[in-house]
Amino acid sequence: MQLTQSEQAFAEAKQYIPGGVNSPVRSFRGVGGTPPFIARAEGSRIVDIDGNSYIDYVGSWGPMIVGHAHPQVIQAIVEAAARGTSYGAPTLLETELAKLVTKLVPSIEMVRMVNSGTEATMSALRLARAYTKRSKIVKYAGCYHGHHDSLLVKAGSGATTFGVPDSPGVPDSITQTTLTVKYNDPEELEAVFARQGEQIAAVIIEPVAGNMGLVLPQEGYLQKVRDITAHYGALLIFDEVMTGFRVALGGAQAYYGIKPDITCLGKIIGGGLPVAAYGGRRDIMEMVAPAGSVYQAGTLSGNPLAMTAGIATLRLISEDPDFYPKISQKTAALCAGLEAEAKKQGFDKLQFHRIGAMFGLFFSDKPVYDYDSAKQSDVQAFNTYFHAMLAQGIYLAPSQFEAAFMSAAHSDEDIKATIAASGEAFMQAAKLQSRLRG
Ligand SMILES: *Cc1c(COP(=O)(O)O)cnc(C)c1O
Repeated sequence: MQLTQSEQAFAEAKQYIPGGVNSPVRSFRGVGGTPPFIARAEGSRIVDIDGNSYIDYVGSWGPMIVGHAHPQVIQAIVEAAARGTSYGAPTLLETELAKLVTKLVPSIEMVRMVNSGTEATMSALRLARAYTKRSKIVKYAGCYHGHHDSLLVKAGSGATTFGVPDSPGVPDSITQTTLTVKYNDPEELEAVFARQGEQIAAVIIEPVAGNMGLVLPQEGYLQKVRDITAHYGALLIFDEVMTGFRVALGGAQAYYGIKPDITCLGKIIGGGLPVAAYGGRRDIMEMVAPAGSVYQAGTLSGNPLAMTAGIATLRLISEDPDFYPKISQKTAALCAGLEAEAKKQGFDKLQFHRIGAMFGLFFSDKPVYDYDSAKQSDVQAFNTYFHAMLAQGIYLAPSQFEAAFMSAAHSDEDIKATIAASGEAFMQAAKLQSRLRG
């Protein structure tokens, strides 16, 4: 059998790069098969090296909210590149992006740019520990904050287990300061604070969880987290690397009206270039070097190319007052269409979640509100659905436990085509389920 270009490329990549990829989520491990190797992208579409074109709902895992290769973003990058790609000295662009961020994100008074979401959350934890002079951190099972040691901790079964590292190479001594709790469970969080509140530096949370599939906070939950942290003098860190500029212009904190102490941003803030940031209250941020003594640095941080892509993207999303209403409406229309197709194939109670320009569906007939309930999903049904969509030119994240992203470039025709393709995909998933049950 003739191999596709992508299959050949993947085989070769595996000789030189671990698993053939520079980030494991791209590898199709969860769903099986070969990831298409991408040659180019434009608007709502990506095109692979075999010439297949896909309507893309991954959007580089979130950043591409204005669509791929947006002419204004590309022009800005090209012009900036001609002036040099990095100087390692201050530029006006850094202040410009910082001003934009403080204007758009309600709780951020000062902000430091870094290169990845991992760096942002790692630095935010160091800052929170320095500010509170405490060492413990509370994180949520199923929330992902990047791959640094303190937060690479899986769900412990049962209440508040001490963190068990998710990866070899992470010392127990580090994860022992990480306490894991269940999403949307106020009693558990209260109990953890009642026992060791005086030792807890911070709670870090995805205010809308997007890394166990899309899971929304229940009514009043984030306010509860805000109240408990404030009561015990712990900081509240919102990891809005995914949700920032995604669920609303001001992120989840604007959507839900909750003010965290520190916010981590990433993905959209760089418009497709490697940028992330952490920011928050002035008195906290002024502890960061060189204003203060909490060390954190970066050779390429705030580099002019990345700042330029971020500025161009944030301008596009903030200057059009209809941007979020329109993109949310498109997301709603797509989800309604998918749900109708699912019902036609006998999936009466799949869990569809959406907020702003994010959506997700769980192949589960029970409500999904935390990591354990997310894991009840029928992964095989998802995998069948995923491959049937891919074969029809619809590119979704290759895992049941990832969110999907709408962009401003997706047209009504794209949405119609996606809904139409889903009919076939739900049919194949339904056949698989009845085969397994029968
Ligand atoms: C993607 C993501 C990160 C990690 O960002 P990287 O740039 O991949 O290091 C952290 N937190 C959340 C919520 C994310 O979605």
